[in-house]
Amino acid sequence: MPEVIYLDNNATTRPAPEVVEAMLPYFNEAWGNPSSMHAFGGHVARPVAEARETVANFLGAERPEEILFEGCATEADNHAILGVAAAWNQPGTIITSRVEHPAVLGPCLRLRELGHNVIEIGVNNEGLFDLEAYEAALAATPGPKLVSVMWANNETGVIFPIRKIAELGKAAGATIHTDAVQAAGKLAINVKDVPVDLLTIAGHKMHAPKGIGVLYVRRGTRIKPLILGGHQERGRRGGTENVPYIIGLAKACELATAALSDGSETRIARLRDKLEAGLLATCPDSRVNGCRTCRVPNTLNISFEYIEGESVLYHLSDRGICASSGSACAAGSLEPSHVIRAMGVPFTAVHGSIRFSLSRYTTEHEIDITLRHVPEVVAEMRALSPFVKH
Ligand code: PLP
Repeated sequence: MPEVIYLDNNATTRPAPEVVEAMLPYFNEAWGNPSSMHAFGGHVARPVAEARETVANFLGAERPEEILFEGCATEADNHAILGVAAAWNQPGTIITSRVEHPAVLGPCLRLRELGHNVIEIGVNNEGLFDLEAYEAALAATPGPKLVSVMWANNETGVIFPIRKIAELGKAAGATIHTDAVQAAGKLAINVKDVPVDLLTIAGHKMHAPKGIGVLYVRRGTRIKPLILGGHQERGRRGGTENVPYIIGLAKACELATAALSDGSETRIARLRDKLEAGLLATCPDSRVNGCRTCRVPNTLNISFEYIEGESVLYHLSDRGICASSGSACAAGSLEPSHVIRAMGVPFTAVHGSIRFSLSRYTTEHEIDITLRHVPEVVAEMRALSPFVKH
């Protein structure tokens, strides 16, 4: 494969070499089933228990039993939302935001079809959560309530005031879930300080492999299983444990903890800010989407007016640069993303939004190369755009 400049870390991240190394023995040597009665399988149970403890420490959980290993973040989000509502035995209210990932919006939609009341709270033009509307929704809804609001947005990186959201929700008697997939490894997470009941993370967004997610479940939270089967995860998620991936995730949590205190995030933010300043200076009619002072350090969402983000991405890809677009190509028509639309981004910019997301492996040299290529591509696209006066 040709060398690439990978600036799409909110989509997935490179598994850290230390993570891969930690996993390998669990493919090659200790490949037993941790539930087996024999010693060969039993030898694997202990590393899994230690990994659970490491993940619990990473999140500030009180006990390792509060950590459920699941197949991905989508499963963990579905489990949190559908599992809490299943424990109600009556219709209730789910309060979420308009800019959630489909892994949250999908199960909310399912609950609406089943007769629950689903309220989507909006954001302002900087992508910031509407706390007033949220408080009004909490006050106006009797019966059981679940709040599911993300910690940080995957497209813009905008951080929601999750502590405040959780405190207000708890005061109103709600169960609180947060999708922290884009916050984990970028911001310190501690459920001792943030009173959420349920929290989702994904391995592959923090340098562990795909195929492993975590649902943190605070002790005492009423939730039914989503995957019915064996007694694994104390009967809360059937399915033989994915041992190598669990080990890999725990290693990634250790590395993330170190990176959060060694200045890595400051370095990433400096590179992101360099990219942002350079693109705004060299690409006329460009604008940043999302609050610039309230973002995770690795994310830049920028719109180049009058052009399609997808065409920019294809041309960048030809030049070895991987980024992502805020739009999804649906049924042959280019639909702007629901996040960008919810922010009221002007029509001329809505289709031209591009997300660059960095990681601790991103180098200054890569940012410099990107800063050379993007303005050229944008200029080429603009020369072809029917919306630009030539
Ligand atoms: N939640 C957020 C905020 C995400 O960014 C993603 C992935 O992009 C997911 C959930 C779903 O993760 P996965 O596809 O690994 O299940």
